[in-house]
This record gives sequence, structure tokens and C-alpha cells, in this order.
Amino acid sequence: MKMKNKAKTVIIGGGIIGLSIAYNLAKLGAEDIVVLEKNYLGSGSTFRCGSGIRQQFGDEANIKMMKRSVELWSRMEEDLGMDVDFRQGGYLFLLYDEDEVRDFKKNVELQNRFGVPSRIITPEEAKEIVPLLNTEGLLSAAWNHTDGKANPFKTVFAYANAAKRLGVDIYEYTEAQNIKVENGSIKEVITNRGKIETRRVINAANGWAKILNKMVGVDIPIEPYKHQGVKTEPIKDGEIKPMVVSFKHDGIYLTQEAEQGGIIGGYGLKYGPTFDITPTYEFLRGVSYRFSQVIPALKYANVIRIWGGYYAETPDGNAAIGRIKEIDEYYIAAGFSGHGFMLAPAVGEMVAEDIIYGKTSKPLWFYDPYRFQRGELRGKAIQMG
Ligand SMILES: Cc1cc2nc3c(=O)[nH]c(=O)nc-3n(C[C@H](O)[C@H](O)[C@H](O)COP(=O)(O)OP(=O)(O)OC[C@H]3O[C@@H](n4cnc5c(N)ncnc54)[C@H](O)[C@@H]3O)c2cc1C
Repeated sequence: MKMKNKAKTVIIGGGIIGLSIAYNLAKLGAEDIVVLEKNYLGSGSTFRCGSGIRQQFGDEANIKMMKRSVELWSRMEEDLGMDVDFRQGGYLFLLYDEDEVRDFKKNVELQNRFGVPSRIITPEEAKEIVPLLNTEGLLSAAWNHTDGKANPFKTVFAYANAAKRLGVDIYEYTEAQNIKVENGSIKEVITNRGKIETRRVINAANGWAKILNKMVGVDIPIEPYKHQGVKTEPIKDGEIKPMVVSFKHDGIYLTQEAEQGGIIGGYGLKYGPTFDITPTYEFLRGVSYRFSQVIPALKYANVIRIWGGYYAETPDGNAAIGRIKEIDEYYIAAGFSGHGFMLAPAVGEMVAEDIIYGKTSKPLWFYDPYRFQRGELRGKAIQMG
């Protein structure tokens, strides 16, 4: 497909965030939008993610954003015209000591205040939810049945197709190699396939965001760390419906895929900052050991695949989203750590509201990219893996 040489908006990054922004901008009536993806859609972190979607955060902004996201996940088939395997199987946080129980009780109170129906349950109740669970040493668990998961592959295609239907042009294998700025205004984006004249750029390049920022002289602390995921062969259908999480076991998270029936998940082994995403034997051993401590039956499940991907991390584990003041019409939405997939529907909607209306219905200010410069870090986002 021949590339346009002029556009009103150029979004750099064809992951779930760039595509959700493109779709939402077009939905609010913006025209002439281009998405550039240097590889194929989803090839960054999005296709490598663990598919989890939760509202169980420990701060008001993430809870509100995720509550909105879950509303949008619930009606995604209607909105985007494609089933993305969204299943509300819940999230089950396993709690093994008094400190964890105290912290999660506080989180649950906050979540309840904003309408998320999470609660603290007993080990017996946890075992009813996941009969294969090893409850030895378990004091209690935090449970929310409206959390869930979805298929990242289908979601990317659903957003891309819906955006295209609204007139968005998406160019794969098209790398933004430079951004030309003159007197604080964007002039053009230079790609391996030619130039696109534009006044507005949205940096949705996640793990690579800092490379684009450098092109325009902006410095925001977002660094790529290698995290890994694992998938087993299918086990009996419906065995592990929720995402099961244990910080006691080094941040493991695991769930059964809705469609294919394998277990997917990971744990908190990380390397970096690095652009290397080669999977490691250390991860394979570590994840197998920890999974089988929590779900002993998984000892007998064969691993069919491990893979590496980025958590694009900021110092407080929350993304940097917003307008960059020094350059007219330069926006960033990157640094989503281990929770960008789940947040994407609300982030896309809020960024579009911000650009079109100049205000947002949910607290986007929380992700202010200038907070690092001011030394105003947010509380560390609850993060597994
Ligand atoms: C092992 C693992 C498990 C995870 N589990 C979960 C989970 O359970 N739930 C959850 O919500 N999140 C999870 N995440 C995090 C989630 O994957 C990310 O937060 C999310 O995918 C970020 O989406 P994105 O669109 O910002 O980034 P990406 O998907 O990385 O997209 C950015 C895109 O930009 C492109 N790009 C970069 N530079 C350029 C350029 N110069 N020109 C053109 N294109 C460019 C890249 O090729 C890439 O496709 C997990 C991540 C990993 C690695």
C-alpha cells in the first residue's frame, strides 16, 4: 500500500495503546490519522502479554481507569464488531502473612468505595474457586469476580479493523526514524518508506518510547526491562478460571486461556534495562518450580513455549501519558509496565478526549509525564511479574 505523505495525526506504535488511541480519536470524529508500526501489529509487548485484566489496584486513579476499561472490555464485541474472548473469571490474590492481609484489606476498601466488588475471602472459599489450589500456609485471599482476561491477538485485530473502518491508515513495517521539529512545532516524520508531513505526533512506542523522545529532545524516564511468559499444553477445560497471583512466590501470576486451555503466566524475574528479549532457562526453571508450589497438579503439565517481552517501566510503575509542553502537539502514552493491555480501552478513550475536548472524564492527570521532573512520584502501582 502506498504511504500518504501528509496526515493530521501520526501515531507511532501499532500495539494495543496506539491502536486504541487511533480508534478512539477516529470515533470522536478526528480525520486523517496514520498509525506507523515498524514491525507487524502487536509485535512489541502486546502479543507477549499475560492477557490479565484487573481493577484490583491500590490507588484511586488506576481503580477508576480500570473500572472504565472493564466497562469497555465488556462491550468490546459490540463496539469493535469482534469477539476478543473477554472472560470475567476474576483475579485471586493469595495472601500468606499479616502484612499482606492488612495491605490488601486497605486496597479492597478503596476499590469498594469506587464500586469494584472485591472482597477478602477465606482459604476454603479460595479453594472452591480454584479446586487445584494448594492452600498450605494461606491466610486469606483478595478476590474480585469482575476482573478477567482477553485474547491479545484478537484484541489487536479488533481495534485495527475498527480503526480502519473509521478511516485510519495503518502502515506496518514502517519505522519512524526521525521527527523533524522547528521552533517548537512538528514538521514531519521521516520513515524508512518516505516522509509524512504532520503537526501532531503521538508516541505510543512503549519500550522504544525513549528513542522517539530523544529525536525531539525530550527526556522521560521509561526503560525497557525483559520479562518472560510461559504457556503449557492444554489442561482440562475450566480448571483455573481466574488469574491466580502470589507475591509470596515472587510475583507469580497464572491463568487458563479461555480458548486453547493452556496455562499462561509468569513471575517477577526481570533483566535490564535491555532491548534483548531472548528467553532464559533461568525463567523456565523458576516459573515451573513456583507454579507447581501453588498449583501442584501443574507439575505434570508440559511447557510448550516461553517468550520474552518488555515491561516499559517508569520509576513508579505508572505510565507517562499526556501532552509534552515544549513541543506543540507532541503527546506521549507509554511506560505501561505490566498493565498496559488491561488499561488500553480507557487510555485510548481518555487520550482522545484530551486531544479533542481538552479535558477527560477519568483521571488522566495521574499519569502526568512531568511528575518525574518535579520529583512527585505516585505510589508504586500493584504489579506482578
Ligand atoms: C511477559 C509479559 C506479561 C504481561 N502481562 C500483562 C497482563 O497480564 N496484563 C496487562 O495489562 N499487561 C501485561 N503486560 C504488559 C503489556 O504487554 C504492555 O503494557 C502493553 O502491551 C503495552 O502496549 P503498547 O501498545 O504500549 O506497547 P507495544 O505493544 O510494545 O507497542 C509498541 C509498538 O511500537 C512499535 N515501535 C517502536 N518504535 C517504533 C518506531 N520508531 N516506528 C514505528 N513503530 C515503532 C513497536 O514495534 C511496537 O509494536 C505484559 C507484558 C509482558 C512482557
